[in-house]
Amino acid sequence: IPSLFHGEKMIYPPPAVSIRLHANENPYGPSPLARTAMAAAIAGSNRYPWEQTTTLREKIGQQYQLSKDHVLMGAGSSEILGLVASFAALQPGNMISATPTFNLWWTVAQQQGMQVIEVPLTAGKEHDLPAMLSKITPDTRLVYVCNPNNPTGTIVAADRLSSFIIAASQKALVLLDEAYLEYTEEPSLAPLLASNKRLVIAKTFSKIHGMAGARIGYALAHPDLIQQLTALQPWANAGPSAVSVAGALASLDDKDFLLTSKKNNAAVRGYTAEALKAAGLPFIPSYTNFLYYSLQQDKGDFLKALANNNIRVGRIVEEKGKWARISIGTQDDMLAFVTTLRKTFTT
Ligand code: PLP
Repeated sequence: IPSLFHGEKMIYPPPAVSIRLHANENPYGPSPLARTAMAAAIAGSNRYPWEQTTTLREKIGQQYQLSKDHVLMGAGSSEILGLVASFAALQPGNMISATPTFNLWWTVAQQQGMQVIEVPLTAGKEHDLPAMLSKITPDTRLVYVCNPNNPTGTIVAADRLSSFIIAASQKALVLLDEAYLEYTEEPSLAPLLASNKRLVIAKTFSKIHGMAGARIGYALAHPDLIQQLTALQPWANAGPSAVSVAGALASLDDKDFLLTSKKNNAAVRGYTAEALKAAGLPFIPSYTNFLYYSLQQDKGDFLKALANNNIRVGRIVEEKGKWARISIGTQDDMLAFVTTLRKTFTT
């Protein structure tokens, strides 16, 4: 391990120990503009970044024709998901979510006494919106929709989702997670926030912006709701560091980088999908930077072979059908994955 002490040789970035296809990270980021801005911001890290954070909230607000008062910053969008869970749990009751979905943060709700009502995805691994709506009772405090969905990569079109949110938010708070939306052609549902006071949209710089390690994300919601969520933060908007805020501000302007990330992802995802098809493994068409595929026909060797080749992937998510998720890395990363895939499944 290289020493990071002053005066000694510093190796940065540290040598990669594995090919990381397990966390849906953007392998190309942070963007060139963000890197420069972040390096410059290190010197100012002795000061609290209040003004820069406000500028960032204004800039984010403008992107959605909203104001800074519609924006709450967090150290990653996970902080936002946790805050919303805590807020919803202030009143005893249940929350409704599809399964499987992104559920790390459920423990925040569960620890505070909230019961999670899980609604299975459809056979096509899509959100079953009518079933979710039918599960809402007077005790429902929160309805969560991840669109596109992690881990399945499926999407609900904006018009359908919008009708669902309008109906569901009449009965409970709705939390819409748009972590991967920028990889798709669908618009954000942020315009609903102009009038809807029972909707929170969680967004992140971890995915298309390639800043997962910078830990910066945000909530979009009506200012009244933002105020209530802010009260649950130890210090309003103070999660992200000066360096992360500087990176986020610059990244929003780096349209070339965002477009390139999206295009590269689509191309490499296509290549990976073709390889899965050729190997005879079923997979779900994906709108994201990951693919959900079935290892039903695997004799148990494939995940071991990947691990032996230093390729990190997720575990089996659904035992029935042996569904697993693979993140889309660079072309080289996926070549390594595909090589192991071919060796395992081509006889
Ligand atoms: N939401 C979804 C759907 C995710 O997949 C993730 C992370 O993978 C997150 C939120 C949390 O990401 P972060 O806290 O880095 O913004």
